[in-house]
Amino acid sequence: LALYVAKGAGKNQWRRYQSHLHSAMVERLELRSALDHAVNEGHFLLQFQPIVDLATDEAVGFEALVRWHHPQRGVIAPDEFIEVAEESGLIVPMGRWVLDQALHTVAQWRRILPRARQPYVSVNVSVRQFRQSGFVEQVKTSLEYAGVPARALMLEITETLLMGDDEQIWADLAVLQELGVRIAIDDFGTGYSSLGYLRQRPIDVLKIDKTFIDDMVGSEQQLALVAGIVSLARTLNLTVVAEGIEDATHRLILAQLGCPLGQGYYYSAPLDATEALAWLRNPLPL
Ligand code: C2E
Ligand code: CA
Ligand code: CA
Ligand code: CA
Repeated sequence: LALYVAKGAGKNQWRRYQSHLHSAMVERLELRSALDHAVNEGHFLLQFQPIVDLATDEAVGFEALVRWHHPQRGVIAPDEFIEVAEESGLIVPMGRWVLDQALHTVAQWRRILPRARQPYVSVNVSVRQFRQSGFVEQVKTSLEYAGVPARALMLEITETLLMGDDEQIWADLAVLQELGVRIAIDDFGTGYSSLGYLRQRPIDVLKIDKTFIDDMVGSEQQLALVAGIVSLARTLNLTVVAEGIEDATHRLILAQLGCPLGQGYYYSAPLDATEALAWLRNPLPL
């Protein structure tokens, strides 16, 4: 601030800067109160993106992705509101809705499909949700209420958010894993954390971030990194999901590297529940 003034910015410029700050703040407050309203009214919907076995091209599960269904503005992507939801704590009631809705949907699919084809659902969970007391109990209750086994649920937690060594979160994750819930590290490779934790912590799945897959084709180094993650995972007995598979080349390279699972627009964009069920019955890349 002082610097800005000291640099001799004119009075008008300073006012413009202030009014810009002010409108950004107002926008954020408005977003927050609209989101509060949306949580109370249940103005959300879930889409589901297939997670595919790269050897057979069949879906083994679906990632549940939340959207805000705004009565005036239409469907709003999570990148526009998750941050505010986390800051305001609204992520907690919203996340509860997401978990229940995801489990309810996967329960319906599992009732219809033969056992060997029954998918799991993978739900994004923010660390803020873990920090609320009773999260483990909430997951247990939701599983019972939906009538699905713990194996039908995977939880995705981002690597960056786990970096602060929060022992309580790890302890909760261990309890959930013991129940049979699978634990995935989302956006793996972007957090610059030490790899030591992979061996000691309750983790089942690594989701390789899309940026690695993007750059894999043009860069030997990037390809070597992806190959390294796949082989590291194999050594540690972890499963791998490659995110952001957008074309047949991505798919082929990953399959050749022995990457077991993947998801991305090449297979399918996120789908509504009914479309996802249709896809499950008849998986077709593009
Ligand atoms: P994410 O968990 O990394 O989810 C993957 C995002 O990549 C999704 O965007 C998905 O639609 C998109 N995507 C999938 N395949 C492709 C592809 O081949 N190419 C490209 N370019 N993109 C692809 P979406 O649905 O907009 O979600 C964005 C982020 O919002 C998610 O990133 C996740 O961090 C967060 N999010 C979504 N739903 C929830 C939720 O229920 N709870 C929480 N806490 N966060 C959520
Ligand atoms: Ca995710
Ligand atoms: Ca991700
Ligand atoms: Ca992401």
